[in-house]
Amino acid sequence: MDATTVICPGSFDPVTLGHIDIIQRAAKMFDKVIVAVLVNMSKQPSFTIDERISFLKTAIGDIDNVEIVGFSGLLADYAKERGAKAVVKGLRAMSDFEYEFQMALTNKKLNPELDTVFLTSDSQYMYLSSSMVKQVASLGGDISNFVPACIHAQVYERLKK
Ligand code: ADP
Repeated sequence: MDATTVICPGSFDPVTLGHIDIIQRAAKMFDKVIVAVLVNMSKQPSFTIDERISFLKTAIGDIDNVEIVGFSGLLADYAKERGAKAVVKGLRAMSDFEYEFQMALTNKKLNPELDTVFLTSDSQYMYLSSSMVKQVASLGGDISNFVPACIHAQVYERLKK
């Protein structure tokens, strides 16, 4: 059988333990995981594309079947270009569902070969989002339970006011 490549897209502004959990689990399930970091975001990111990629590389760059890349344009096109069979997304709560379902159907319409696979968030990360990390750090709070230990200091220094 052909190797199965999947894509985990996101802004990763910054990467959290919730993202890492999804990527690690996807890497155990599929032959190759492309972590595609959105270059152009609708809202201004707190970290540059290079910083966001560098945090991911520091945290999970050692996993053999994970590739971390910046990406712009349509995910449906990029998936085709890379020969990816599916998009893998984490679902935290019902609140994620409606938007993710809409995205999955849109991507399927744009690229009928492309499926979306949802992994349920680990219960300990259900509440975790990049925006929550930013809010806590900017108020001087402890983010060590939210982001990988190896990037904790860098993320905190950049965010604290
Ligand atoms: P956010 O949705 O927090 O702005 P991203 O766009 O960087 O974050 O996230 C990319 C994807 O990672 C999301 O669509 C979601 O599928 C998944 N994800 C984010 N946070 C978590 C979490 N805590 N647990 C599981 N999956 C998550």
